[in-house]
Amino acid sequence: MVFVEEKMNKLIYCKKCLYPNTKPHLYLNDDGVCNACTSVSNKSKINWENREEEFKKIVRDFKNSDDIHDCVIPVSGGKDSTYQVIKALEYGLNPLCVTASTDSLTEIGRKNIENIKNLGVDYIEVTLNPVIRKKINKFCLETIGDISWPEHVAIFTLPLRVAIQHKIKLIIWGENSQTEYGGPEKDAEKNLLDHNWLQEFGGMGALRVDDLLSIDGIREKDLILYQFPEIEELDQAGIHGIFLGYYFNWDSTENKTIAEKNGFKSWPKSVEGSYFNFENLDNYQTGIHDYFCFLKFGFARATAQLSMEIRRNKISRVEALKFVKENEGKFPISYLDKSLEKILEEIGVTLDEFLIICDKFTNKKIFKTNQDGTLIKDNNLNLKKINYDN
Ligand SMILES: [Zn+2]
Repeated sequence: MVFVEEKMNKLIYCKKCLYPNTKPHLYLNDDGVCNACTSVSNKSKINWENREEEFKKIVRDFKNSDDIHDCVIPVSGGKDSTYQVIKALEYGLNPLCVTASTDSLTEIGRKNIENIKNLGVDYIEVTLNPVIRKKINKFCLETIGDISWPEHVAIFTLPLRVAIQHKIKLIIWGENSQTEYGGPEKDAEKNLLDHNWLQEFGGMGALRVDDLLSIDGIREKDLILYQFPEIEELDQAGIHGIFLGYYFNWDSTENKTIAEKNGFKSWPKSVEGSYFNFENLDNYQTGIHDYFCFLKFGFARATAQLSMEIRRNKISRVEALKFVKENEGKFPISYLDKSLEKILEEIGVTLDEFLIICDKFTNKKIFKTNQDGTLIKDNNLNLKKINYDN
């Protein structure tokens, strides 16, 4: 096979972890190390005892003997949200837990939600109209190559709306995604999830809610709950959103251990495309979401998970890279044992249509192509990146 040399760019990877320079919000410094790595190494300088004191002060400020609930905790049922609830209870808070239903809830996801309730908390689950949701999933897959757009928006908008409705001022979010997964330095250090943070990182990305009005059969009022409350409304309600990861040293695998001790269930075998078997267990569409990340940027879930493990010295870069090469970015024929065809059927997309959408969003500069520019795929429809390391 002959490759067209001039079409080949090169992915440049962080020298410490496995993130490539194509990752949004990722910056490599002069030493070739990414901002996710530097922000995590900065964590070793943090005085966690002081941070805990800061958290205790917040607990004192918001613990309200008259109102029923002291805080809202957005929960998915995952190991991190299980940990958030355990922490809140440990510090004497009475939370109202809120789940924004995922796009396509899995059986194990349901079990883990039930487990959260049984930690001993009040709980609300908000399911936005599934008929509308499926139309949005399909539209977002076809137009921006992101099937999970509505889910990633609703997990922020719904807990905010519930907090306002129930007059609960404190919202305890998990880790600031900009710390662990790499974001602008000023944002990685933040303890507050405020309106500005939401605008930039709250899942909206390439779409505005109004863009969805072009979908057949969708009315303005179908979309209201996908909108962020107005900044004035948030201010008036006195909403104070904090990241728990600012106050406690956040570690996914530690959280998982604590969550498991409290009834959280991991997937009994390996999760397609993942290194961990205890993340993203609540939505069958996740495999498609992650695959599109791979097509656009040349990395996916395993890279994110293993990069975290490398930063915490739990695996060597060489070993991690080996795993990524062998397991990441495979064509997503199933997720948590549900076949791709069945997952697509739910949103009215055929396999043939899916293949066309995949090609449309594949960054042809980072995958091997034939001389005529068509992507080279093996018998299982898998692509090959032009380079897997520097
Ligand atoms: Zn890095």
